[in-house]
Amino acid sequence: MGTLFEITAYGAERQATAQAVEDAFAVIGRADDVMSHYREESDLMRLNRRAAQEAVPVPADLYAVLSEAIKYGELSGGAFDVTVGPLVRLWNRAGETARLPSSEQIREARAQVGFRSVRLLPGTRVRFARTGVEVNLGGIGKGWAVDRAADLLRGRGIRTALINAGASTFYALGHGPDGTGWAVAVRDPCRTESTLATIRLREGSLSTSAGYERYWEIEGERYGHIIDPRSGWPVEPLAGVTVTAPAATESDALSTAVFVLGAEEGEALLRRLGRRGLLIERADGVCRAHEVGKFTSILSAERE
Ligand code: AMP
Ligand code: MG
Repeated sequence: MGTLFEITAYGAERQATAQAVEDAFAVIGRADDVMSHYREESDLMRLNRRAAQEAVPVPADLYAVLSEAIKYGELSGGAFDVTVGPLVRLWNRAGETARLPSSEQIREARAQVGFRSVRLLPGTRVRFARTGVEVNLGGIGKGWAVDRAADLLRGRGIRTALINAGASTFYALGHGPDGTGWAVAVRDPCRTESTLATIRLREGSLSTSAGYERYWEIEGERYGHIIDPRSGWPVEPLAGVTVTAPAATESDALSTAVFVLGAEEGEALLRRLGRRGLLIERADGVCRAHEVGKFTSILSAERE
């Protein structure tokens, strides 16, 4: 998944706790084998190559994450789109050559995007309704892997742990070592070496989407890695978005969706789903967080 995962866990028995953490990393490794777009032989890449021609049987995990991704596509009115692959590829190339794509190229790539072309068939088989479809799980996959690692730790009786996927998605088991919640820092997108808010995470997840995480530098401008599937252009209506939810798959998908939707529609989506978040806006080079839900700089994302 192109990132670093970190697990902190507390347990009564050193050996068993260490083993649980080891096995949680194996679960994350397996998720990477299934849905990485950095590996040609991942199940996801195989799906992308074949599903326009035939119904492709996929592992249950991949089927489930696709079904979640489609759900957030629907909920966000297409702002979150798991078939954004052709646009990501186009902008990757633009980044490598340091030249903006032409409007014709953007139009062509945009025409291939649309999550409704992904058909989930019985027997965990998947078929694309047309050619050119390319699934990219970059907006949801880390969250999914974090949830599976959390399931494993919980299953082993671990009650206090924090899983961190590249500082963009966190999942907290329990209330942290001192019982006040796991302290998770939200970076200031305007001054990435400083912290904008510290959130106390308890039994739940937190995800951040921001332009500073990954970007392309083209013709002297920075373009963030999150693309509006409707325009085909990288968007940055907000400097950053942090969302909390009971599960990391949800917070991951929602932070990406809200980032695309911007302040107004993004807030409406969070309120409709009863989720909390920080919408970070940049004005005159200064970043300010607008809270959605009962959300101070200290937050508890209680499990529902
Ligand atoms: P995140 O960091 O979770 O917000 O996810 C960003 C990643 O998701 C990007 O690097 C792309 O791989 C992918 N992506 C970009 N734009 C979108 C979008 N509109 N919907 C879903 N995934 C996207
Ligand atoms: Mg995301």
